[in-house]
Amino acid sequence: DLSRRVQAAGRDELAMLAATFNEMLESIETAYRLQQRFVSDASHELRAPLTAILGNLDLLRRRPDLPPEEQAQALEEARREAERLSRLVADLLALARADAGVPLVRKAVDVDAVVLDAFQEARRLAKGQQLVLDPLEPVRIQGDADRIKQLLLILLDNAIKYTPAGGRIVLGLQDAGGDAVLTVADTGVGIPAADLPHVFERFYRADPARSRDPGGTGLGLPIARWIVEQHGGSIAIDSAPGQGTTVTVRLPGTGAGAVQGAGAATAA
Ligand code: ADP
Repeated sequence: DLSRRVQAAGRDELAMLAATFNEMLESIETAYRLQQRFVSDASHELRAPLTAILGNLDLLRRRPDLPPEEQAQALEEARREAERLSRLVADLLALARADAGVPLVRKAVDVDAVVLDAFQEARRLAKGQQLVLDPLEPVRIQGDADRIKQLLLILLDNAIKYTPAGGRIVLGLQDAGGDAVLTVADTGVGIPAADLPHVFERFYRADPARSRDPGGTGLGLPIARWIVEQHGGSIAIDSAPGQGTTVTVRLPGTGAGAVQGAGAATAA
């Protein structure tokens, strides 16, 4: 809305003030547009499972004569969609906290202990994939252990979702001059090159037909990126369709790199 811009010509303080004001207005407008889009995307995503739940409940109410196996199927579908709804709400809350700028709890974290913890949890979630921990070097950084575990579980959950049974998933932690370098490599379906630059966008899912099935929300990687940024780190994804995906996260140690919020997120 250009009519709201302040006009002040010249090089004096008033002109500088006007320029600053206009810049601020622009960034507020951009943030507002993004927020509006997020709310509309979120409503859309929430509506889909709700519609499925209501549809199945209505069916059960209208047709008490349905054969038991069809009743069971309708109930199972309603339950599955309710689970999806609950995942979506949890992810949306995590992002809302991120948007609100809730700061991390920064303490000394033994990253290797967190990695081991996440690895054991992911083992229970695996569906016929081989999970390997290699290497596991001791690294201590300043950070938030719960968030680092959440980050690892997002990446491991993706590796499990997009790797067929029989595939291999390798989780690694290396000490790179005091920084923690985390890797999650899988032999799964990979990400098409055209989708790669977008996977950190909220609600983005490569190839809906394939990625909607495993119950993804499209919010995992945006949350992962936020956690990495809060640690002043970086995240990069390498992928070859049909061969697999490797995600590399670098979290700075207490050395020079540990600048709050100075993270770069790239998709290589
Ligand atoms: P989702 O909940 O759909 O997994 P994410 O934000 O975690 O959402 O990931 C976004 C998209 O990136 C996924 O829908 C999927 O298409 C792609 N993706 C993420 N991780 C992998 C992986 N390890 N292998 C293949 N595709 C992946």
